[in-house]
Amino acid sequence: MLFADAHLHSNPIKGLGIKNIAKKFKSLNGWFITLVSLPPIHYGLNHDFDGYVKSVEILLRECKLAKEEGLKVKCLAGVHPADLERLINTQSLKYEDALNLAYKVLEHISTLIKNGLLDGIGEVGRPHYKTSPEGFLINEIVLRYGLKLAKDLDTVVHLHLEQCGLLTIKDLNEVLNYIPIKKHSVLLHHLDIKTGIEAYNSGFTFTLCGKSKVINEGVRKLTPTYMVESDFIDDPKRPGVASFPWEIIKNQLALINEGVVDEEYIAKLNIDNVVKFYGVNPP
Ligand SMILES: [Zn+2]
Repeated sequence: MLFADAHLHSNPIKGLGIKNIAKKFKSLNGWFITLVSLPPIHYGLNHDFDGYVKSVEILLRECKLAKEEGLKVKCLAGVHPADLERLINTQSLKYEDALNLAYKVLEHISTLIKNGLLDGIGEVGRPHYKTSPEGFLINEIVLRYGLKLAKDLDTVVHLHLEQCGLLTIKDLNEVLNYIPIKKHSVLLHHLDIKTGIEAYNSGFTFTLCGKSKVINEGVRKLTPTYMVESDFIDDPKRPGVASFPWEIIKNQLALINEGVVDEEYIAKLNIDNVVKFYGVNPP
């Protein structure tokens, strides 16, 4: 059995760093990861354009190291919704300054995508927790901006979203009506089961977190059309906030061993769906 982690982060400054993560993941038959940028604050950098540029440089180095460890890697950078929310709500940055920062960072990311250094935009989207109307709306504006850029670049985008089931998916369907990006370039990341079911019904690509409880319910309720992610943030102060990359492998193997799913189902999540979404060669 081979395994993929469809969305994780690494932090070589404060955490394990991708070299250590990749070694362990590969030793457990991991073959593919999508490595996603962390907000600058995670690396101890300033929350300004320069901080973002440096954080993307760290990401690019991490992606290179992961490839050197023998993994297939897709490398995505974005402006995390929690970041923008924090900038305007906690740091009282003016709305227009926060928006302009997000636009400028995403344009920088677009240039790197055009030059073949990055493979897509991720993550942008909306907070999954209750926030101020401004914290929500600024991210809605940036979500649409990210989708437009991804459409123009014909690249993939990971969306971070609130988990409102039918409402989340209905809204996204309407947004995609006027931003005609190919639906199969959009990945809705870290969905809960109820939103996953609606995403499936609407033909969206999505990921579930490979935490025991979630994946256990996922394999019972969903056909194998999604991918599995750890959403590891590599922060020793918040261990396993989502899950560990090796934990999602262990949990899927347990489901096979317990006879809850067959190997074919797990292979679809970890190989077929990854190959289809990213256009990578199968292992
Ligand atoms: Zn993430």
